[in-house]
Amino acid sequence: MRGWEANVRAVTPYTPGEQPKLSHVVKLNTNENPYPPSPLVAQKLKSFDPDTLRLYPDPAMSSLVQGLADRYGVDREQVFVGVGSDDVLSMAFLAFFNSGRPVLFPDITYSFYDVWAEVYGIPYEQIPLDRQFGIVKEDYRRENGGVVFPNPNAPTGAALALSEIEDILCHNRDVVVIVDEAYVDFGTASAIPLVEKYDNLLVVQTFSKSRSMAGLRVGFAVGSKKLIGYLYGVRNSVNSYTMNRFALELGACALKDEAYFRKTCQKIVNTRERVKKELAALGFVFPDSKANFIFASHPAYDAKKLFEALRQQHIFVRYFEKPRISSYLRITVGTDEQMDILLAFLKKYMKKETPDGRFS
Ligand code: PMP
Repeated sequence: MRGWEANVRAVTPYTPGEQPKLSHVVKLNTNENPYPPSPLVAQKLKSFDPDTLRLYPDPAMSSLVQGLADRYGVDREQVFVGVGSDDVLSMAFLAFFNSGRPVLFPDITYSFYDVWAEVYGIPYEQIPLDRQFGIVKEDYRRENGGVVFPNPNAPTGAALALSEIEDILCHNRDVVVIVDEAYVDFGTASAIPLVEKYDNLLVVQTFSKSRSMAGLRVGFAVGSKKLIGYLYGVRNSVNSYTMNRFALELGACALKDEAYFRKTCQKIVNTRERVKKELAALGFVFPDSKANFIFASHPAYDAKKLFEALRQQHIFVRYFEKPRISSYLRITVGTDEQMDILLAFLKKYMKKETPDGRFS
């Protein structure tokens, strides 16, 4: 190792799901929305004036921030926006987890949390989920430098009730508690109403899932004015123009189509509930998902082999070769047609392959 290498901030980065270059794939591996964004977004894009790209975007990001404040019934000073919720979460780790004490998050959770902790040099402790993959609220009563968890959790899909989140907040008044609500719109109560009561609560959401805009990169956080002020302080010390003109305009536009948003979310929830029944009938087991994915395992079939067999058919799901979850597949809820293709393949696969893994 050369001298300079000893002082490099070397990290093992987060590995995002595959974005296959093939056409005609059934893409159920990165929790994207199978439906397009609101038609208002397409209209807005057509009328976008490229001449405006000469100019820097609005540093106050007023259109998007005000749209979010109106939609969620908070003041604009309570809203932070970023380049996807990954950017929001990363800034929040940098701003708030600075005590030297370990930040707590579940052992099975969004696999970016430990990466941010590593890159920023934040100590952390991973708290085991229970055997049913549930977060145990009592486990978050120990000394810590902050708490972060998704609700519903990823990749399990299991959700905490608002009362359980409030219990975690009650026992953690002197640290920042981040609730990552990337999947909240698929049937979980948001913790946003609690920000009035707890000035140390930061609720993070995204346009990537329920608003079908993963490619636009828009995420946001709602919290007390004080918390949000600190977050902008850090963001503006790193990069003040993170939000480009497309993200600001198209994001604000999507917020205006509440009816489309609700309809799309409901379609995904309906498909999820149907697919749960079909998977259960095939013998799969899974935590009761409240997200746009199902984390499923089959007692008789090897998950990795199944993942590879699906991939050969151009059906992409996500597999994590990690302790406790290596027998599970995370299956994004797509359209009914996509899920039918998946289910048809599973039925065929199970007929052809004996449970011990040998093809008959
Ligand atoms: N939180 C969780 C739990 C996620 O699964 C994801 C998606 N990878 C994100 C945050 C980040 O999503 P985005 O940056 O697209 O908003």
